[in-house]
Amino acid sequence: MILTAGSSGTKRLPPWLRRNIPVLSESSRIEGTIKKHHLHTICHEGLCPNRAECYSRGKVTFMMLGDICTRGCRFCSVGKGKPEKPDEGEPARIAAAARELGLNHVIVTSVTRDDLPDGGARLYARMIGELRKLDSPPVVEVLVPDFGGNRTALDTVLEASPDIFSHNLETVRRLYPEIRRGADYDRSLRLLNEAKKRNREVKTKSSFMLGLGETREEILEALEDLRATGCDFLALGQYLRPGREQVPVREYISPESFSVLEERGYDIGFLEVTAGPLVRSSYQENRLDALSMGNSGAPDNDARRNAR
Ligand code: SF4
Repeated sequence: MILTAGSSGTKRLPPWLRRNIPVLSESSRIEGTIKKHHLHTICHEGLCPNRAECYSRGKVTFMMLGDICTRGCRFCSVGKGKPEKPDEGEPARIAAAARELGLNHVIVTSVTRDDLPDGGARLYARMIGELRKLDSPPVVEVLVPDFGGNRTALDTVLEASPDIFSHNLETVRRLYPEIRRGADYDRSLRLLNEAKKRNREVKTKSSFMLGLGETREEILEALEDLRATGCDFLALGQYLRPGREQVPVREYISPESFSVLEERGYDIGFLEVTAGPLVRSSYQENRLDALSMGNSGAPDNDARRNAR
């Protein structure tokens, strides 16, 4: 199947975004396991263009705390509204699914739950604990919401010691009011900064999308702002419109421009930068495993640059 300009895109897709998508049935093992354990994935809820490819590689990003978000980001296709009560059994079921799929790197994200006093942090901590109980514990990456800036919620998650603490900046400061309603640019930076201050061991990570109308200067400012929080890992990808309800794509960024930004990311000190039109925050996560486990054998920046 050729991915055309996204069923609801207005602009014709540039050649670097056109590709054959493996038929999803080939990755039914993941679909089956997700259904069996009554779980959600951001891959499905977010209509991620890489879903079939990742599933066929045995990769998935679980989504906790239900499938209804209390926020209204204009780029996101996840359901919005009044969520149901959190499911106390979800952490154990995520661990069971991870064991069944033999995942060595587990990424768990969630909707934002401004309706919960701790934003769901207690269930995040329990989920990390359940994964740690597995015979061969995987690398655990949590991609968390901003918890409304609640420091106790942040502590609850960090005390459970995830290997990678991820929070997405999503876009540049100027576009927040239009694109990320209910979020706050400085609050997101503070969350990453606090995470690093509270637990030097944890690797922090963030990502944002390009093509929403940001300028090059604004992108470089966001890179600098993220790096100033001590953020280790960065992912940059092209925004693709999931549906007609979401904002249109304003610009398609060329692979060459992504490479320039990747170089810039290394120049200002990120440990690992993944940048490209189809890159998403959990795309090619295994590149981070050695680094997140503090493996000194991990190649240094120059080696990584040359490896690409
Ligand atoms: S916080 Fe925004 S991006 Fe995250 S699930 Fe809610 S609406 Fe989507």
